[in-house]
Amino acid sequence: MVTHVMRLKIKTATVLRSSLTPEAMSNRFFPNPMPEFIPESTPSTQQELQEAVTVTTGGDSLLNLLAMPHAPLSQRLKRAALDLKETIVMETWGLTGQRVGDFTLYCGLLGTAFLLLKSYHVTCNTNDLALCSQIVKSCDAASLSSRDVTFICGRAGVCALGAVAAKHAGDDESLRYYLAQFQQIKLPKDLPDELLYGKGGFLWACLFLNKHLGQGTVPSSYTATVVDEIIKNGRALGQKRKCPLMFEWYGEKYWGAAHGLAGIMNVLMDMELKPDELEDVRGTLKYMIHNRFPSGNYPASDKDKKSDVLVHWCHGAPGMALTLVKAAKVFGDKEFLDAAMEAGEVVWSRGLLKRVGICHGISGNAYVFLSLYQLTGNTKYLYRAKAFACFLLDGAHNLISGGEMHGGDSPHSLFEGVGGMAYLFLDMVNPSQSKFPAYEL
Ligand SMILES: [Zn+2]
Repeated sequence: MVTHVMRLKIKTATVLRSSLTPEAMSNRFFPNPMPEFIPESTPSTQQELQEAVTVTTGGDSLLNLLAMPHAPLSQRLKRAALDLKETIVMETWGLTGQRVGDFTLYCGLLGTAFLLLKSYHVTCNTNDLALCSQIVKSCDAASLSSRDVTFICGRAGVCALGAVAAKHAGDDESLRYYLAQFQQIKLPKDLPDELLYGKGGFLWACLFLNKHLGQGTVPSSYTATVVDEIIKNGRALGQKRKCPLMFEWYGEKYWGAAHGLAGIMNVLMDMELKPDELEDVRGTLKYMIHNRFPSGNYPASDKDKKSDVLVHWCHGAPGMALTLVKAAKVFGDKEFLDAAMEAGEVVWSRGLLKRVGICHGISGNAYVFLSLYQLTGNTKYLYRAKAFACFLLDGAHNLISGGEMHGGDSPHSLFEGVGGMAYLFLDMVNPSQSKFPAYEL
């Protein structure tokens, strides 16, 4: 059977090997039809406000949406997200007889639970929180024997989300249960270092718990051992003056957020590092900046210096942009800020992918602009996030049903399907607080 790991790997390898004509490249994304900037209109009367809320769809509906003031637009996005959430719950939980096939956050039921928790935060609807807890409980049973340990694809995600949902619900017994289960997770000896299946993804679950349940929930004495192993592995494959840290996943030196350097550096920057370790993180990110493609995009792997194709969170500029935003905050270094903004330009011009999801779709790419907006306060980035969200709100349904946009192999999932779009729409309600799921804390 081809597992999800292998599917990702095969897909990536296929993309990297194929000869990429300009035609093939242009087939990956829609040319961005949206103006560089449209100022929001400010309705001066109640009637104008009402018209803004009820603006009809038509030939210029996208432009109308882009000019809409934030308040009615966010209401519209929220309404679409909540409708979508109902469909997703029905498709992934109700219609399956509440059976868990895939338990993971990435393509499985935990993604539905994560969306419900987000919905609860936006609407305070306690039914969403209760359903979230119920779904996590089923994921718990389904993942007991899983050897995968990360937040996105493994058991740590189930236990961490279960604990946080229990905390919100005031359910101390479940909280203790999930924390005890989390402590029992054993990291296999041959565990890789990357985010989706490796140590980086386990550490992210620890960070998530500490953020939502209080520092020290997972003690740093415990995470330090894991950090030490990552640094040791990275130095063994890195070169001190060139690129201090390097890692392999299935024999490939990946750069992206899902399997490579961008994702591992992103997690390390949130851990307690010794000064020389922090310097190695800085040096590794500088190596990546200095060896990116002339277009400003980032290679998928260390040997992939020619195929400037993928503009995804998993591989390419979007994931790296989020990591660089973090680096700009951690190091206060202008080179990281500039590189983050340049990666953002790549996403604006080539990031309107013919896919909907978080991992390699428009929904995930929109988060680059939200992150840059939070870092810089520049409303250009808020507009761009809004533009990608409005493009989806306006056209995703028809594009997917018409076959012009891929709705994901798991079409209702968080990372590949419309679950990610619903999550983005909910984050657009309060864009200064948005967080890329399972990547930004
Ligand atoms: Zn992807």
